[in-house]
Amino acid sequence: MHRDRIRSYLELYRDLGIKTIYRRQTLPSPAPEDLSVPIKKEKDPVILTSLAPAGDSLEQIRLDIGDCRRCRLSEKRLSIVFGSGNEKSRLVFVGEGPGADEDEQGLPFVGRAGQLLTQMIENTAAKEGIPIQRSDVYICNVVKCRPPENRTPLPDEMQTCGQFLYRQIMALQPKAICALGGTAMKALLDTKEGITKQRGKWHKWQEIPVMVTYHPSYLLRQYNQQARREAWEDLKTLFHFVYD
Ligand code: URA
Repeated sequence: MHRDRIRSYLELYRDLGIKTIYRRQTLPSPAPEDLSVPIKKEKDPVILTSLAPAGDSLEQIRLDIGDCRRCRLSEKRLSIVFGSGNEKSRLVFVGEGPGADEDEQGLPFVGRAGQLLTQMIENTAAKEGIPIQRSDVYICNVVKCRPPENRTPLPDEMQTCGQFLYRQIMALQPKAICALGGTAMKALLDTKEGITKQRGKWHKWQEIPVMVTYHPSYLLRQYNQQARREAWEDLKTLFHFVYD
């Protein structure tokens, strides 16, 4: 029902030719008893709701998130992991959602996958003669609260939290986005194809170029040596585009 309501808003806005809507009030919170009801997985693409107020800022977005209880992920989280890095960065990395370490520390990509992401960024940049460190880019996730047992976020959770990702990227206005893994790819791109087909290619989100690559957690699995090489190639292409 919640989803139908979002759709009918979107259709109404589209019919009225409205692209950006000034709205401090974010999507309605479900009743508390709804939070624990798992909603079955759906094949529909996730639509990042375009509620970007004029003059928006990361600070305002964080304030609007507040002590969020809009979806069931709020029940078990310790922290809301908003994002971190250089707010003036030309490059934004988008992951899936916080894991246990991120939930504890309130920061994205600080666990094992995060350490690999740091290496990937800093080693690729050093090899290519591009003077950037991890702290020079901005990093955030599709969902801001840890899914229990690190499961993949459900479509309605991505949809609800996606409004804040939409606003974050609009406020940052990067030159390019890097979608890390299938969840970020699905949140940003209207595609039914898998990550192996879409990685290494340029796509667009709201006119901003998007490079899709493998999620560092996937690359940590030992048998994925070929995928590692491909991810390094993807970052090389991305960095030259952004920083040359
Ligand atoms: N995996 C993600 O997708 N995001 C994080 O912040 C950490 C691990």
